[in-house]
Amino acid sequence: MKAIWRLTRRKADMISLANGDPHFTLYPIRKLEFEVASVEDGVLDPVSSWRGAGASAPSQSFTTTTHSGTLPLKAAMQYSAGAGLPDTQRVVTDLTNFYHSPPDHVVTLTLGNGDGVSKCFRLLGEPGDHFLTDEFSFSSLTNAPLSHGINWVPVKIDNGGLVPEELERILSNWNEEQQGRRPHVLYTVPCGQNPTGCTLSVERRRKIYALAQRFDFIIIEDDPYYYLQYDADGNEGETFKFMPSFLSIDVDGRVMRVDSLSKVMAPGMRLGWITSSALFHDHLVTLVDSSTHHPHAFGQVFLTEMLSSSGWNISGFDRWVRSLRKEYQRRRDYFLRTFYQEVSRTGLASANAPEAGMFVWMKVHIDKHPRYRSDVQHTNGSKAKTNVEELMEELFERILDGGVVVMPASIFVAPSDLNKFDSDDPIQDRLNFLRLTFAGQEETMQPALARLAQVLKEFFADTK
Ligand code: PMP
Ligand code: PLP
Repeated sequence: MKAIWRLTRRKADMISLANGDPHFTLYPIRKLEFEVASVEDGVLDPVSSWRGAGASAPSQSFTTTTHSGTLPLKAAMQYSAGAGLPDTQRVVTDLTNFYHSPPDHVVTLTLGNGDGVSKCFRLLGEPGDHFLTDEFSFSSLTNAPLSHGINWVPVKIDNGGLVPEELERILSNWNEEQQGRRPHVLYTVPCGQNPTGCTLSVERRRKIYALAQRFDFIIIEDDPYYYLQYDADGNEGETFKFMPSFLSIDVDGRVMRVDSLSKVMAPGMRLGWITSSALFHDHLVTLVDSSTHHPHAFGQVFLTEMLSSSGWNISGFDRWVRSLRKEYQRRRDYFLRTFYQEVSRTGLASANAPEAGMFVWMKVHIDKHPRYRSDVQHTNGSKAKTNVEELMEELFERILDGGVVVMPASIFVAPSDLNKFDSDDPIQDRLNFLRLTFAGQEETMQPALARLAQVLKEFFADTK
C-alpha cells in the first residue's frame, strides 16, 4: 500500500483515488504558536537566563498556520512517509552533519530513543541471536528484544565503561556450534552510560570500532546524553569540544546512531532520530510504516521551525546545548560536593565524578558490613560466592524506609543466561552499587544525601 501511495508523487498532475487521506480543510486546527527560550547572540548563557528570569525571561516566538510557516499545517498534518516529513528530515540531517559529519548516512525520525533503539533491535535480531552490552545496562531497552528471542551477552566494565579487551575475549572465544551465531550487534551508551555514568574515551571508541570491523558487528549507539558532556578543565561553553561519536568514526556504515530530544528539550516531545546507512534506513522505514508510523506532526512542525531561521537555527541550538551542558555540570558538581561531605565521609560508600549524563554510580563498601560473607554456597542455583545480593536488597529497603528512592544495581544486570557467561565471577557478587541522579531539584540533594548517609551508618552498625 505504501509503495503505491508513494506513486502519487510520480507526476505533477497525478490525481489520487488511492488513499483515505482526510482533506486538510477538515482538520479542526489552523494555527500553532510556539514561545521558546531566546538564544539570540546577546544572550550569553541562555539556560540560566531562561531559568533565572521566570516569566520575564527573553523568548522567541514562531507561528505555523494552514498555509504559512516553514512547514505549513496543510502538508504537515497529512499522512507522510516513515522517515518523517521531508523538511523535518532535512533539518535533522543538517544537525547530524553539524556534530558528526558522517559520510553517506540517512536519518529516520523516531519517537525518542526508547522507540529508536527497540526498532534497531527488531530490525537486526532473529530468535536465538545474541547481542552484546555492558554487564550493567539500561534495562528498559535490554528488556525490549527478549520477547522476540534475543539473548544478551554481558561485557565486563571498569571505571572507563565497556572494556574492549573483554569484548575481544568474548568474540574470539565464541563457539558457534555450541553457542549459536556469533553476536553481531553491540548496544552501547557511549556518554554518561545508564546506569554507571561512564563515558567511553576516544581511544576505547576506536578500539571498539576496530573490533566491530574485525568481528563484523553492528554498533547501536544510543546517545541521549551526548550534549551533556562535562569538562575536567572547566572550559566554558563556546570552546568545549564534544567527543567524537561512533557515527563520526564510521566508515563502513556499521553504526546506527540513535539521538533524542528528551534530555535537551523535553522527554514528552517523544521525538528523536536514527542515523544509519541507506540500506538500514530503507529497512527501518518499512518497519516504521508497519508499526508506529511517522512521528506526530506537532513535534515535526516544532522541530522544523526550531532548527530553521524562524526558530533557533542550528547555531542557536548549539548555544542552548552548550549552556545546558554547563548547567548540568554545575548540578553535578554541587551534588558531588554534597556527596563527599555527607556520604563519602562515612567511609561506607564512594563515587567517581561522571564525565557526562545525569547519573552517579555509588559504590557501597559492602565488605565492611559485619554480616558480609565471602564463602556462601547458594541453594537457589546462583553461583555467587558472597551474600552481597541479599545485603543490598536489605539496604535498598532501609533506604526506602529512610525516605529516599534510589535505583539498585540489580535491576540493570543485562538479562542473560548467567551460567553461560560468568560462572567464575558472577555479577551477583558485584551488585554493591546504587544509581543516583543529579538531574532533579538542587534543594532536595542535601537532605537526600544526609538521609542516605544516616541509613548507611545504621545499616553498617547492624550485626544482627
Ligand atoms: N486501521 C484501518 C482499518 C485504517 O483504515 C487506517 C487508516 N487508513 C488505520 C488503521 C491507520 O490509522 P492511524 O492513522 O490512526 O494510524
Ligand atoms: N536510552 C538511554 C540510555 C536512556 O538513559 C534513556 C532515558 O532515560 C533512553 C534511551 C530513553 O530515551 P527517550 O526518552 O528518547 O525514549
